[in-house]
Amino acid sequence: MKKQNPREVALQQFNRAAEIMELEPWIRNVLSYPERVVKVHVPVKMDSGEVRVFEGYRCQYNSALGPYKGGIRYSPDVDEDEVVALAQWMTFKCALVDVPFGGAKGGVKVDPRKLSKGELERLTRRYTYEIVPVIGPSIDIPAPDVYTNDEIMSWIMDTYSIFKGYNEPAIVTGKPIYIGGSKGRKEATGRGVAISTREVLKLYGEDIKGKTIAIQGFGNVGSHAALILHEMGARIVAVSDVEGGIYNPDGLDIPALMEYVYGDSPTPRRSVKGFKRARSITNEELLLLNVDVLIPAAIENQITEENADKIRARYIVEGANGPTTFEADEILFKRGIVVVPDILANSGGVIVSYLEWVQDRMGYYWEEEEVNEKLEKKLVKVIQEVFDTIRKYREKGKEIDWRTAAYILSIERIAKVYRKRGLFP
Ligand code: GLU
Repeated sequence: MKKQNPREVALQQFNRAAEIMELEPWIRNVLSYPERVVKVHVPVKMDSGEVRVFEGYRCQYNSALGPYKGGIRYSPDVDEDEVVALAQWMTFKCALVDVPFGGAKGGVKVDPRKLSKGELERLTRRYTYEIVPVIGPSIDIPAPDVYTNDEIMSWIMDTYSIFKGYNEPAIVTGKPIYIGGSKGRKEATGRGVAISTREVLKLYGEDIKGKTIAIQGFGNVGSHAALILHEMGARIVAVSDVEGGIYNPDGLDIPALMEYVYGDSPTPRRSVKGFKRARSITNEELLLLNVDVLIPAAIENQITEENADKIRARYIVEGANGPTTFEADEILFKRGIVVVPDILANSGGVIVSYLEWVQDRMGYYWEEEEVNEKLEKKLVKVIQEVFDTIRKYREKGKEIDWRTAAYILSIERIAKVYRKRGLFP
């Protein structure tokens, strides 16, 4: 399958919205480029004694609304265009959900599953050292993303704090609770995906109870989305990971599957494959299952012009960033399939990251209930606002999809700031 350049996808999405909302050309121009892209080379002493040098990035896309914010991923697919696209999506995500952050993303081109724990720690600490000059609690705040977790966030926090000479928990979010993390952060992205699914169904007069759902990806996002949707009464019939998927039309026992894959470990101990009472399917088959809701929660470029016309789900809720290409979006829209876009559906993570940063800065920590309540309230409000935007444009004779409506709302929030603040100098 040819991989479409994610930067291209991100720009096409932005341009479509900018066109429809008639955004001023100067703001459109400014928002088409990242403010800064830092490229670093990260030397790491491997266990063998050999020194290997890894390529790393931090893209700071836009800071009109506040400090740059976004995760760091470790993956062999990382390159400049991917990081820039992801940082652009973070910019529109933060603006959409109205948290006072700009957008950023970082990455190291590496397969972390091939590193020992010691190598992973040395890589993380050295990468942090390389980006210390451009990050800070009021400058740019990293977080977890693909193949990074709370342990890696601890090393980033520790490394940064050593350089500063004092503890600075607000430098990074997604930390373990006992070093300044927020209760509910780990589950937040999955919880947001589950809430988005339930609320969007509700807006179309449907109940989450009994709905069949397939989830691609069983990492931090997919697994928690599965568990919370299961608790809401939905039937999760299929899940997958990089090695493949499992399917049972009667529904999978998600709590048992969580135990099977994770146990007490923060990272998967084994693949979902081989789980009891389910038959094996491929990732491609999972995407084409006859279900009510499909949740891509892995990586970009999964729903493309090659498979969009074969998708049978009525709703797609994007747990991953950028899983649907621009062309696929158009095919799905024509077919009447509702796509709840990444910048809305997976925003629960950054919403609770914002709450974590706030708690770190005031040095006072909330109970999980309070965090979950704040998350839910914010998300439900934004979902309604996006829905209202679709209706508003319909009244003007323009049919737009959920992604375009989300972009319009988000871009408007940033544009308003530019109009008032002006452009330096
Ligand atoms: N990596 C997550 C995302 O793509 C979270 C970012 C954050 O919390 O800063 O939204």
